[in-house]
Amino acid sequence: MKEFIEKAKHIVIFTHMAPDGDAMGSSLALYHYVMDRFAKRSSLSDNKTAIAAGPQAEPAERTVHVIVPNAFAAFFNWMPGSAQILIYEKEPQRCNGLIAEADLIICTDFNDPKRIGPMGEKMLANPCTKILIDHHIMDERVRGLVDDGLWSEIHSHPEASSSCEIMYGLLTAESCQPTTISQEIATCIYTGLMTDTGNFSYNSTRAELYDIIAALLRAGVKKDEIYNAVFNQYSTDRVRLTGYALYRKMRIYPEYHLALITLSADELERYHYQIGDTEGLVNMPLQIADVFYSVYMREERPKPGTPKSRIRISFRSQGDRPVNIWASEIFHGGGHMNASGGELFGTLEQAVALFEKSFKNYLKI
Ligand code: 5GP
Ligand code: MN
Repeated sequence: MKEFIEKAKHIVIFTHMAPDGDAMGSSLALYHYVMDRFAKRSSLSDNKTAIAAGPQAEPAERTVHVIVPNAFAAFFNWMPGSAQILIYEKEPQRCNGLIAEADLIICTDFNDPKRIGPMGEKMLANPCTKILIDHHIMDERVRGLVDDGLWSEIHSHPEASSSCEIMYGLLTAESCQPTTISQEIATCIYTGLMTDTGNFSYNSTRAELYDIIAALLRAGVKKDEIYNAVFNQYSTDRVRLTGYALYRKMRIYPEYHLALITLSADELERYHYQIGDTEGLVNMPLQIADVFYSVYMREERPKPGTPKSRIRISFRSQGDRPVNIWASEIFHGGGHMNASGGELFGTLEQAVALFEKSFKNYLKI
């Protein structure tokens, strides 16, 4: 990977739609690493070209950009480098240009080009070198893309807590010491470890994870500040919306150990919904004894020119109770065993009807 980065002139880093802490952290950690290397390499080649071509010689213009399909939550605004992230939905033309001229594309925290929306097509249209860094299980279609040679290099580790954990391994592989880890990189990596494990409450039983955390602390990570920046900066509306959802909108199916929360576009607007405001809501019903499955449905108004609302669906479970097959077979999605997502175009009522019709086939009672 180092060689690919050394050779590249125009690097683009992609991460998935509605980026979470792991998507943000893994892409930004890599961004900082590449920026640091580019700076180092430019000063070296400056000297060489200066000798060969005289003092006026310009170092070649090298670029690195992180591009995400749509906006990220405001509670990631503090992350180092987040202000440099390009949002495809806001600047499609500029992003298309960057994607077309890239000679190296690195994808983090997803393995399916569909998870980056229209950017996926643009990526496939550019035959340049592509690297995958991810911890999701590959479904059959995604395996097909691997077999077709989409990726020049793959770092796919479903056993890892997060893409940030894999990224840490890659960025330190050279020296086997955390010497290449700046405080900025460490901060990005820690954010992903923390958010993808629910602050180290699941997917976090491997001892290696805590070796990494110890190294990140030595690199200057302010762990409690990161926790506060992500989890204690909510708006009043957000906290009230959570209260409303749990008090008025949570249905329990006790015999199935299942909870369902639905929020319509009207309800979300009443609480001035912002991206990220219901992040984590789906986990809350799991706090109830004997609730092992939780589903949350959120209605998004139809996009201009399209007739149907999009119902975005989140699935969570505890223990040996997979939800990803349900998400993929019924709701066009997928994900991890205990955390998956999907969608449906139609009404909330239709989504709930499909949910109630299908869950008996997928739940372990
Ligand atoms: P969330 O409920 O937080 O949006 O998503 C939970 C997890 O499910 C994500 O980390 C991701 O791995 C997976 N996921 C969400 N939506 C999709 C989807 O549409 N397709 C696939 N394959 N995975 C998804
Ligand atoms: Mn992740």
